[in-house]
Amino acid sequence: MHGKHKHVPLALAAMAMLLGASSLVVPTQDARAAWFRPLQHKVNPTAQVTGIEGKVIVVDAGHGGRDSGARGVGGVIEKDITLAVAHKLARYLQQGGAIVMMTRTTDTDLATERDRAMKQRHLGDLRGRLNVVRRQRVDAFVSIHCNSAPSPDWRGAQVLYLKTNPHAKQLAAVMQETFRAELLPTKRDIQSNRTLFLLKRIEGPTVLAEIGFLSNPDEARALTTDHYQERVAFAMYQALVRYFSDPAASQPAEKDT
Ligand SMILES: [Zn+2]
Repeated sequence: MHGKHKHVPLALAAMAMLLGASSLVVPTQDARAAWFRPLQHKVNPTAQVTGIEGKVIVVDAGHGGRDSGARGVGGVIEKDITLAVAHKLARYLQQGGAIVMMTRTTDTDLATERDRAMKQRHLGDLRGRLNVVRRQRVDAFVSIHCNSAPSPDWRGAQVLYLKTNPHAKQLAAVMQETFRAELLPTKRDIQSNRTLFLLKRIEGPTVLAEIGFLSNPDEARALTTDHYQERVAFAMYQALVRYFSDPAASQPAEKDT
């Protein structure tokens, strides 16, 4: 566990430099998660209008480390795509005035050595992501994944939400709209879910965005490019801006019982 931690401050410092952040705050409880305050030197005049100023938004790059996620056409690996898009989304949000937290900033998972010893790496990884959220108020949680299917014909980005969570459904619907408008063509609609670990456990607007099929040659190719990754990140950013601009969405999430 400690072996993993010791590389992280360097990575965070590098990330801070990359983002030009002058006020990086790293919580001491969990060095693997990274907080980013809004960029101080680049005040967005529309931040007040957009409604995301000061919102705490968690950007969760799916998979990482030993867990590659899906492998797609041309050898593209899900964990690399999700991390690249997560960094881009974090940057947009930060510029918009949000307080951004990434569950991971490097190629690692969040399982502990104990999880590995107990053969619970996958569960430990998910718990690690959940623990990031449990320590403070979170206004929105966006988990980024890529899809894969046996047939190369399947395509299209799709947003998943917990069936019983109206806040999540609202954000998912807005995000699906921006995906349809901004990304490779798709007629896909939002998909309700009852079982996904993080969706079940995080209240408020919590969604899982499948940003395309790595088994589809067009989407796999696009998702490896910086340009398309930017488009995906910006579509997600726009969705969050629109969601928080809706007065109804600004109300604190009701506690599920
Ligand atoms: Zn995934």
